[in-house]
Amino acid sequence: MKTTVAKFGGTSLASAEQFRKVKKIIESDPSRRIIIVSAPGKRFEEDIKVTDQLMEVFHLAGRNEDFHPALETVRQRFEEIAEGIGAAIDLKKEFEQIEARISERADRDYVISRGEYLNAKLLSDYLGFTFVDPEWCVCFDEDGTMNPELSRRMIRASLLPLETAVIAGFYGADSRGNIRTLPRGGSDVTGSLAAAAANADLYENWTDVCGLLAADPRIVDHPKTVKYVTFRELRTLSYMGASVLHTDAVLPVSDLDIPINIRSTDEPEDSGTTIVRTLPAGETKYPIIGVAGRKGMSVIQVEKLMASDGAGFTAVMLDILKSMGLPFEHCLTGIDTVTLVIRSDLLEPCREQLFSRIREELNPDYLGLSDHLSMIAVIGEKGSNSSSANIRALNSLTDAGIPVNTINQGAGKLNLLIGVPEEKYEDAIRCIYETIEKAGL
Ligand code: ASP
Repeated sequence: MKTTVAKFGGTSLASAEQFRKVKKIIESDPSRRIIIVSAPGKRFEEDIKVTDQLMEVFHLAGRNEDFHPALETVRQRFEEIAEGIGAAIDLKKEFEQIEARISERADRDYVISRGEYLNAKLLSDYLGFTFVDPEWCVCFDEDGTMNPELSRRMIRASLLPLETAVIAGFYGADSRGNIRTLPRGGSDVTGSLAAAAANADLYENWTDVCGLLAADPRIVDHPKTVKYVTFRELRTLSYMGASVLHTDAVLPVSDLDIPINIRSTDEPEDSGTTIVRTLPAGETKYPIIGVAGRKGMSVIQVEKLMASDGAGFTAVMLDILKSMGLPFEHCLTGIDTVTLVIRSDLLEPCREQLFSRIREELNPDYLGLSDHLSMIAVIGEKGSNSSSANIRALNSLTDAGIPVNTINQGAGKLNLLIGVPEEKYEDAIRCIYETIEKAGL
C-alpha cells in the first residue's frame, strides 16, 4: 500500500475551521496514513501562535509572576477547537496536569511543546487515528541535539503495528525522559524523520503557501510557483536566503529519495511544488527554476604577476582565511588573480588584519577591495547543452545597463552566480526574472 506522510503546519491547524479542511484533505486520499502536526498558529495577522503564548507562560512562571491568565488563554484556544470539531478529549484534565507541572517548575521545553501535544491529541481523536507521543520515539542526546538515526528506528518501531497515526511535531525526549524540543519550526523535521522511518512514497508539507516561488515576491510582482525543484536546487535557494525548508527537514528524506510536496491547506487542488532528486518520467522543466540573492558582500581582489606559474598562490590565500576563521562565499581564480567574495559583516572586524597578512605572505602587485555588492544566483540544474539560459540571463543585465562585477559558474552548471552593485540588486532580480519567465519558466 502507498504511504504518504503528511505534515500540517500551524496555520493549517489554527482553528476548528482549519481542522475541518485538514480532515477533508486526509480523507480524500487513503495513502495519507501518518500525520504530523504543529501547534495552532496564527488565525489572522496580529494573532499569536500557541507556542509563543506558551513561551510567555514559561517566562511568567520563571519570574514567579501569575502565569494562570496566560495559560487560560491557551486553554480557551484549544477549547474552541475541541468544541468546533466535537472532540471527546478531556481538556480540563490535560490542563490541570500542565498547570501542576508548571507550578513545580517544569522545564521550558516541556511547556512550549504542549501546543503540539494537545493539537495532535485533538486531531487523532477527530480522525480516529492513533495518537503517537514523540516523547517515546523522537530521541535526543544528552547535549540536547536530536539523534536522527535512533529516532528513525524508534519511530519505525512505533508505527509498525499501526495503520494510521498522528504524531505531535517539534519535540521528543532524552534518555532520562526529559522533554526536548527541536528549533522553532521543527515539526518539519519530525515529518521528515517520520517519512524516512515509514519509508514513505511521499512527504507532504501542508502550509499556507502553494509551494516555492521563483523569486522574492517583495521584489517581483506575483512570481510563479515552481512545479518541480531538485534537492540540489533547493539547497541553493535556502543558501541564498529564500525561506524554504530547513536542511534538517530535507536530509532524512532526500537521502532515501522520497519526494517532498509543499502545498496549501487553503488551496488543496493546487499541486504546489514537488522537491525531487530526479524528475518523474514524462515531466520536463525549464533549466532555470528561479532567481535569488543576498546583499552585503565584499570583494577582495589580489593580483601578482606570474602567480599562476608558481604553485600555491591560491592555497596560501585560502590558508590565511582558514587560520583567521573567516569563511568566504566564492573564490574565483584567473591568470595571476584571485578574487574572493566575503560577507561584509564577517570581514569588517578583521579587514586590517587580513590585508596585512596578505601583504606579508603574498606580497601582491595589487590588493583591492570593493564593498556594497550583492550576489545573485540564477538557479537551475542544466543539461550540458542548455547553458544558453544562463547567457540570456546575463545578456538581460547588460541590455538593462546593470554593471556585472563578477560571474561564477562551475562545470556542474547548477547555478550561475552574478555579482552586481547593491543598489542595482532589485532591478537585476526583476530583469532576470522577466527573461526567464519569457523563456518559459
Ligand atoms: N510550534 C513550533 C513553532 O512555532 C514548531 C512548529 O510549528 O514546527 O516553531
